Amino acid sequence: MSDIRQKVIDSLSSNVDGNSDFLSSITSLAKEEGEHVYDTLLNLLTQLDFSPEDAKKNWQRIVEHKNELEGKLGHSISLMTAVCYYFSDVEKNISTPAIIELKILEETKKQSHSDGLTGLFNRRYFDEAMQGEMNRAQRYNSSFSVFFIDLDHFKKLNDTYGHQAGDLTLKVVADILQSMKRTEDTACRYGGEELVVILPETEKINALVIAERIRKKVEEQVLEFEGTTFGVTLSGGIASYPADGKEVQELIHAADVALYQAKESGRNKIFIHDFEKRHYLRIDFAGEVQVKSVTQSSKSEKIDVPAVNISSSGILFESPIALKIGEHVQILLSIKDQKQPVTVKAQVARVEKFESHFDIGVSFLEIDGSGESEFAKTLAQNLGIPLDQFNQRKPD
Ligand code: GH3
Ligand code: MG
Ligand code: MG
Repeated sequence: MSDIRQKVIDSLSSNVDGNSDFLSSITSLAKEEGEHVYDTLLNLLTQLDFSPEDAKKNWQRIVEHKNELEGKLGHSISLMTAVCYYFSDVEKNISTPAIIELKILEETKKQSHSDGLTGLFNRRYFDEAMQGEMNRAQRYNSSFSVFFIDLDHFKKLNDTYGHQAGDLTLKVVADILQSMKRTEDTACRYGGEELVVILPETEKINALVIAERIRKKVEEQVLEFEGTTFGVTLSGGIASYPADGKEVQELIHAADVALYQAKESGRNKIFIHDFEKRHYLRIDFAGEVQVKSVTQSSKSEKIDVPAVNISSSGILFESPIALKIGEHVQILLSIKDQKQPVTVKAQVARVEKFESHFDIGVSFLEIDGSGESEFAKTLAQNLGIPLDQFNQRKPD
């Protein structure tokens, strides 16, 4: 074995973490022994043959990429991980069985983070990700939300259709979560039939819109196992940093309490944790009350929107165009079993841009302040909320 090779091996084996000492020891070794150090090193790591020149270039880029990744992740990564990422993500043209082996290494690491049945991240990963998100939100003064899910009457589903049908149900719900969450959201299996989504940079009301879409999709999903069709629903609880908790455990507890309230109120619902309101805001999908159209007060143009959500204090809906915060709108609502649609005045409270649409949240202005209007009564009746719980908000 050449002298250089042995020296590189010595350096490698005394610094398996690939820390900065190792990186500088390679640089000084190259100064002493010449640039063959680089192709020797890369050959050791990847079994590939590089010219000394190419090896040096690739090595420099591996180090740059390693630093960049560590900056993004906020912790150091091993040399093997850096090499693996470099050849699989950056320098994709070079591939050999040796690199594939490295990929297998990475795959093994991924598996230790994922749940075997659903393919979601596992509980261990959730704990780490939750703490990471908490640190980030604290550092940057940003918000994030957590959405806890528990499948409804899952024991009964198992008893009726069998444990395998239960497993299939979990997989299908997990797939729905994966396909409906945003790229930046992290979906995990918390345990049993309990799932959880971490939504970075997301305030409660926006988390609710996403959660509500997922709830509805699961409700509509037809499941089939060995020729029998059935369905499943979920209950959910949402809590947000910093409003509902400033520590991980506190936030998880808040989401859990909201989830419990959702179960208590009859299941197949999403509840948000809400300290300010003294009660848990009940959110119903607009099955009973439908939004026909929204008209901007400044223009007479009507926007056709499918309602997303309606609560005692306002409506959340998708709009193809942006509205301005503070803008007044008129909303035409149709209420189940009522012939005449009702017009409600509302004010835009929240606007969030998505790729193909905007999520708009409006607060009701004119559900008569006295709480006695016909509309207020009908709406209260349809939503099953006591009249005095309506937001008695005055226009700003
Ligand atoms: P609730 O609506 O109150 O949540 O009712 P539930 O029956 O879902 O509540 P409970 O937590 O008592 O029951 C959860 C059941 O989920 C019990 C357990 O057998 C089942 N379960 C947990 N993990 C799995 C799994 O991996 N596969 C299957 N098939 N069932 C599971
Ligand atoms: Mg449970
Ligand atoms: Mg359950």
